[in-house]
Amino acid sequence: MRTLNSEKLEIAWAAESRQEKFWKISDAIWSYAELGLEEYKSSRLIADTLESHGFTVDRGVAGMPTALVANWSHGTGKPVIGFLGEYDALPMLSQKAGSPAKDPVVRGAPGHGCSHNTMCAVQGLAVITLKEIMEKKGLNGTLKVFGCPAEETLISRPYMVCAGLFNDVDVVIDCHGEDSLKVKGVEGTACYSFIVTFQGKTAHSGSSPWMGRSAADAVELMHAGTERMRENLPVTQRTHWVTLEGGEAPNVVPDRASTWYFIRDVDENVESNFKWALDCAKGAALMTQTTYEVKVLAAVHQRFHNTALVELIFENMKAVGRPEYTEEEEAYARALQKTMGIPVKGMEYSPELSATNMAPPFKGGSSDVGDVTLVAPTAGVKYPVRVPGSYSHHWAVVSAAATSIAHKGITVGAKVVAFTAYDLLTKPAVFTRIRTEFEKLATERPYKTFLPDDVQPPFGLNTKLMEKHRGAMEQFYLNP
Ligand SMILES: [Zn+2]
Repeated sequence: MRTLNSEKLEIAWAAESRQEKFWKISDAIWSYAELGLEEYKSSRLIADTLESHGFTVDRGVAGMPTALVANWSHGTGKPVIGFLGEYDALPMLSQKAGSPAKDPVVRGAPGHGCSHNTMCAVQGLAVITLKEIMEKKGLNGTLKVFGCPAEETLISRPYMVCAGLFNDVDVVIDCHGEDSLKVKGVEGTACYSFIVTFQGKTAHSGSSPWMGRSAADAVELMHAGTERMRENLPVTQRTHWVTLEGGEAPNVVPDRASTWYFIRDVDENVESNFKWALDCAKGAALMTQTTYEVKVLAAVHQRFHNTALVELIFENMKAVGRPEYTEEEEAYARALQKTMGIPVKGMEYSPELSATNMAPPFKGGSSDVGDVTLVAPTAGVKYPVRVPGSYSHHWAVVSAAATSIAHKGITVGAKVVAFTAYDLLTKPAVFTRIRTEFEKLATERPYKTFLPDDVQPPFGLNTKLMEKHRGAMEQFYLNP
């Protein structure tokens, strides 16, 4: 922080002066632990907070009740900077905050295993700080916060892009909680998420099996087919499935069975892999004399982060630097690392820029942010809210995501976001470099959604699961 110029120091102080409010918001969202498209309390808290700070909020955008856009403009209103936030949790990961051993708040309930509870706290703290600075200095521009539901199931962004919500946005700053400070270039895979349901005929498996047609057999054969498909695909592919329904008793031939697939690969390959998987479904149905239906839940592009923006974020990351950690925090980190069986190094990390992770080890995760990267120059600030070495979709992330380690990470993330946005508002040369790079990408890869024409967001996917646990969870909700 010693190397900061006076303007950035002012932003840093302005962020610190209101950080506690946003730590509490993050902790409250952590305690709600709402699954995708069920984030009613979380999205309301964010919308109300931004509204109370003078933002105009459109709730329920792009046909999704928990999606929102919050807007604030000053002067000419140009440029328009977008900020992405998410708030969905993951099933089964309920965990007490600050506990280094597995210890659920409510057994089997959802938890914030990807630290999405911290994202709108980061963006909220950043934009409220920026608003104050812009008013003080008379800077032109618009700040636009996108509250994006159901990232874990890759749902919201293609619909938000297709609804034209990003049409006037010049640059987008994304963010995500991590185990360190980092920023990444080209990242991850495109993905089709879909459910195939086979329909057969029931019969007595012992006395009249010839009258039945097993839908469970069709699911097994489809899995066998895609396993053989996998053998002949490039190393960039990731193919995985879970059986959703497969019969209920061995003595009844199952007339209904279903399987949920993620077919992932780089943009160039993903559509053909998806079509091949559908051929495997067709083949399985033919072999078993069953019929089948396909329901596409989501289809997203891979992420093409803007290099000039990545570099700008990295410079600001180095300027903000790591927070100091207490001996208590270090001890918690070491204990958690020990439980997880990962290197015991405490809170050791340094800011890191990876231009691409397409090189080995290739990480094949997907995010619906991919669609945004094709309609506006986008890059993301990864800020430290987990214990170094811990990996996402694990209870250890839930444990750390509402501790003082996460709080410090939120402030660090918000400062990097605010510094970057401030540079975009005040350094036309950097802004132009980012836009020029993007125009080239947009010409090479004009945006077209991977979603089939007739698809809607899959409402209700998580409703039953949420209803099952909400009663037990409510008594542990934290106040913002
Ligand atoms: Zn995530």
